[in-house]
Amino acid sequence: MNAKRILIVEDERPIREMVTFALTGVGYETREAADARQAQALIAERLPDLILLDWMLPGVSGIDLARRLKREELTREVPIIMLTARAEEEDKVQGLESGADDYITKPFSPRELVARIRAVLRRGGPATEDEILRANGLSLDLASHRVSADETLLDMGPTEYRLLEFFMSHPERVYSRGQLLDRVWGSNVYVEERTVDVHIRRLRKVLEPHGYDTLVQTVRGAGYRFSTRV
Ligand code: CA
Repeated sequence: MNAKRILIVEDERPIREMVTFALTGVGYETREAADARQAQALIAERLPDLILLDWMLPGVSGIDLARRLKREELTREVPIIMLTARAEEEDKVQGLESGADDYITKPFSPRELVARIRAVLRRGGPATEDEILRANGLSLDLASHRVSADETLLDMGPTEYRLLEFFMSHPERVYSRGQLLDRVWGSNVYVEERTVDVHIRRLRKVLEPHGYDTLVQTVRGAGYRFSTRV
């Protein structure tokens, strides 16, 4: 099972270090940013599974960064937990309106933080563990990584699996090759866009005997789409 990646955006180093220590201790992978600019650079490098975002940052505030991230297609679905010293109800509302998924008031205990992260990761994003994604007779088990077509187990490579998992959790939307590279391979990996085509072909080949290759659709001039509609 891959460790969930958490980006910590906080200008106060002691808090950042405390949080990193607490999260790596329970198996999360962490990156640290001291301001919005660093955060955006790290996000561009590799999309985190969750962002812990301090409200009061020098320069661009946490609220403004949250708004930005929720506006952009690539980062829209990444859950955000706001960290703040403010406990006012009005601030909480403002924080959640900015698109944050949850809110935690300083000082907090590591245990409380981990509990909140787990809760948000569980409900956030379509790809939670112990869930089965289905499309027509195709099913993908997120816990066991088993894929079957009409009850027959399919054999596919790890990249084809990740590609299919991404498609099945984001159906009916067109993704460019670049977007697929970012979301499936990670944007810090240097591979050419035609690599996507190679793995799409392999994936279709696995699905073809069951007639499900048509679910992976080429959208000319745009990219690929996973759809149960013709
Ligand atoms: Ca701060």
